[in-house]
Amino acid sequence: MKGKRVLIINRGEIAIRIAKALNELGLVSVGVWTDNETEPPHLEYCQEWVHLSGNNNKETYLNIPKIMKLIEHYKIDAVHPGYGFLSENREFSETLAAKGVTFIGPNPIAVHKMGAKDISKQIAKEAGVPVVPGSTGEIESVEEAIKLGNEIGYPILLKAVAGGGGKGMRPCYNEKDIKENFSAVQREALSSFGYAGLLVEKYILNPHHIEVQILADKKGNVYHLFERECSIQRRHQKIVEEAPSPFIGTDEALRKAICETAVRCAKAVNYDSAGTVEFIMAEDKKFYFLEMNTRIQVEHPITEEITGIDLVANMIKVAFDQPLDFKSQEDIKIQGHSIELRICAEDPITMLPAPGKIVGFETTFPQGIRFDHCIYPKFTVTPDFDPMLGKLIAKGFSRDVAIRKLRNAIDGLIIDGIKTNIPLHKVILDEENFKNGHYSTSYISLIKPQEKVLVKEEIKSFMLKVAAIEMNQLGGVK
Ligand code: ADP
Ligand code: ADP
Ligand code: MG
Repeated sequence: MKGKRVLIINRGEIAIRIAKALNELGLVSVGVWTDNETEPPHLEYCQEWVHLSGNNNKETYLNIPKIMKLIEHYKIDAVHPGYGFLSENREFSETLAAKGVTFIGPNPIAVHKMGAKDISKQIAKEAGVPVVPGSTGEIESVEEAIKLGNEIGYPILLKAVAGGGGKGMRPCYNEKDIKENFSAVQREALSSFGYAGLLVEKYILNPHHIEVQILADKKGNVYHLFERECSIQRRHQKIVEEAPSPFIGTDEALRKAICETAVRCAKAVNYDSAGTVEFIMAEDKKFYFLEMNTRIQVEHPITEEITGIDLVANMIKVAFDQPLDFKSQEDIKIQGHSIELRICAEDPITMLPAPGKIVGFETTFPQGIRFDHCIYPKFTVTPDFDPMLGKLIAKGFSRDVAIRKLRNAIDGLIIDGIKTNIPLHKVILDEENFKNGHYSTSYISLIKPQEKVLVKEEIKSFMLKVAAIEMNQLGGVK
């Protein structure tokens, strides 16, 4: 494995995370940059970098023929796709396999089977795993959706089978909603994922998003690394995640049941990498398979913090058929509690992307904090990419300690020149329901922390901006 040349077809914080793991394991990290990225910070962590020409994702990070040319020209042995982009693309994993290039991810058949939400639900069902009630496959028409709506009962969710990142889904409360939304969701699916297919699911009210981390090798061993709760979401996308789940709490039987169910799903597709089985858990604690993400996830660090297992390093090792760092399921234990805040370039009140140029950046963190990010002073956040800049992660002896550390850390995280969701995170960390661990995916719409974002924060931010600019002139802290 040592000395193998690995191309990272991604950018931002995850490209940095992967480069660090590759360097640590003695592989050669090769980064890419495109024409619409000026001074991409991830290159600093790569040992080599190559140019991927083009101004938009179709021409660059999603362009399989162009990437294959780079692989050939620069004698690349393996590819790490990160998350998003080509990470769950069947054609990409098959093309690499055909050329004898190692894909740092699961085998192409697992990518295919778990890639589309309709096929994966069918597989889960066959494996005896409960799935959210709804259509068995893709639905073809408005009439079919209405028929299903009447059968399973409203509300229902129209969902893109190729969807991801919370995009391409809309709840419908009656027939009229279906008629009004059907073609709009199809259009969104086509433009975001290149495929218009939809499915119908029962829209479960006030559920919990609970997912299980899987790590499997190429010898048929499948392990779970316990669960994460990711119920604090905006636009169906996570912004705060924690492990273990406060909703499961001390119910060890439930924890065991959901973790073992996830292993069953992974085994059903001969899974052989790091991956995540996502579930929706209803208020009555019944859980249903939602989807499987056949890649490393944004929130993987909280699992690393509570288990002490480096997921990215182990994912790389299994791709090269090297043994995992542990020997059995019993070696994997939960110790303490970890919480992650996604730090995004977005308005803290509207939660909409807010690109711009960072003018100041400073961090002062207590013990127990990890910040996986791609920020530096003068970095320009463009609308071309996801607005997530980094993840602030706390590890504490208990959930209360993790919250306390995170609250302290976020006061010491200064990003100036752009709007971020830092003020929103401060409100959430101080909010009673969150502090007590009482929240569901309806948290943002029910509790409305965004309305409690203080204008005072903006004034404070202005004061800190002056200090940060001064710091920057002194050389800044990276
Ligand atoms: P995670 O599932 O790891 O918690 P997200 O759902 O927030 O993370 O997605 C992480 C990134 O990957 C985002 O930039 C998101 O837009 C992108 N992404 C996720 N799934 C897909 C998909 N199926 N197609 C395209 N992009 C995706
Ligand atoms: P993505 O691929 O975009 O991550 P998911 O199917 O994982 O899509 O769903 C994302 C989020 O949308 C879930 O975490 C949950 O909050 C919400 N959601 C999805 N399906 C349902 C459902 N059937 N009922 C209630 N909420 C749902
Ligand atoms: Mg999901």
